[in-house]
Amino acid sequence: FAEKIDKTVNEVIGKLIKVGVMASINQEIDFETAEAIANEFGLELEKSTDIPEENNDIIIPLDNEKDLKPRPPVVTVMGHVDHGKTSLLDAIRKTHVTEKEAGGITQHIGASEVTIDGKRIVFLDTPGHEAFTTMRARGAKVTDISILVVAADDGVMPQTIEAINHAKAAGVPIIVAINKIDKPGANPDRVKQELADRGVVIEEWGGDVISVPVSALQGTNIDTLLEMILLVAEMEELKANPNRSAVGTVIEAELDKGRGPVATVLVQNGTLRIGDSVVIGTTHGRIRAMVNDKGKPVKQALPSTAVEITGFSEVPEAGDQMVAVEDDKTARDIASNRIDKLKEEQMKRSQKVSLDALYSQMQQGTIKELNIIIKADVQGSVEAVKQSIEKLSTEKVVIKAIHGGVGAITESDVMLATASNAIIIGFNVRPTSSAAALAKKEEVDVRTYRIIYNALEDIEAAIEGMLDPEF
Ligand code: GDP
Repeated sequence: FAEKIDKTVNEVIGKLIKVGVMASINQEIDFETAEAIANEFGLELEKSTDIPEENNDIIIPLDNEKDLKPRPPVVTVMGHVDHGKTSLLDAIRKTHVTEKEAGGITQHIGASEVTIDGKRIVFLDTPGHEAFTTMRARGAKVTDISILVVAADDGVMPQTIEAINHAKAAGVPIIVAINKIDKPGANPDRVKQELADRGVVIEEWGGDVISVPVSALQGTNIDTLLEMILLVAEMEELKANPNRSAVGTVIEAELDKGRGPVATVLVQNGTLRIGDSVVIGTTHGRIRAMVNDKGKPVKQALPSTAVEITGFSEVPEAGDQMVAVEDDKTARDIASNRIDKLKEEQMKRSQKVSLDALYSQMQQGTIKELNIIIKADVQGSVEAVKQSIEKLSTEKVVIKAIHGGVGAITESDVMLATASNAIIIGFNVRPTSSAAALAKKEEVDVRTYRIIYNALEDIEAAIEGMLDPEF
């Protein structure tokens, strides 16, 4: 930091002491502290990117504001089953592939790109919020904008609400695509009303969410939707520095019989080139070949480009971070350190939030917010619990119901709980067997009750450190 602002280490430490931080030379300071120090020197700091700045073992250099260039948006399509997510992605692809591409063999790499008015938009191909949440659970943020598909003849459904909550939890802006407007039973106004009831208020109703009526089947208004994506992207001021080493995230990965481990990575910052040495999660290698979303071999990939890469030793996982480093040895060392660390961690599993441990986690200051997912057999209970539960918030812990729904506790609920470090409370509903297995694996605290009062009592007791441990 001293180097960056052109001061000596002693000067910086001096100022740190002045603002009450006793720091040593290799100690980490957060952005707020750095900002305060910069102000002491009469300088202004700016945060340069939204990409994870470091990974403990890899220092990812910060970008100067002046090096940042606008980058294309990365979009995920979410919504209820059968509302037309896949059809919409198909329609988008169809409108914007050139004749030549359409004739060729298109290879599925997990992402696709369209160009409109000379501007690129990248779509992640796996529709639905499962992929989105899986990524987020692993700390990866790949989506800039989320398209919420709602069928005009069906309206807001459980998975629509889930998708809204997932996008909100991730702080990703939503654009609503009201689909199937060609259908006789289509009622876009009802959709808008139902969305407003869920806190998604569209522009013509005085909110700030853009909505576009579309028909994926007939290709109606697809261009308008794409234009709206570009508009929102512009407002988000998405930027990256193409002139630096690459940082990205794995979207898909598999073992190919002929080519060995292959992965689709989304390059989020910098430029990835053939021959680059990379660390991907706990694996490493040197980029041997790159293929773009049209199945074409490419030599380099700029920010916001998805490419399928080969040339590394093991199959990475979706959500793993990819970082280009200076040479093979560095890549190998980092990867092997990570494997060691991982083994260590597996031994002393990281602490997940649970009611039993809540009080001690609050005492340690590791938990300030208790996120809760409520599932019940009837909507009335969901609402009732939500209201009474949030009222249990104290000065020490804020209680937030991040999602509520009717029906069994599903894998999707557990994934959301993992991503948001939440506990799940069920009333007269149980986890499905796959959800129960996943909850066990992810160490998500799932509690089921028959009586609302009992749940409230447990939470209150947990906050006060008086909960009897469950056996
Ligand atoms: P997904 O489950 O959300 O991916 O939905 P699909 O894209 O598989 O679509 C579900 C069904 O709705 C399919 O039978 C589609 O043909 C149909 N569908 C999708 N979009 C439209 C549309 O704009 N109009 C009409 N009439 N049907 C549509």
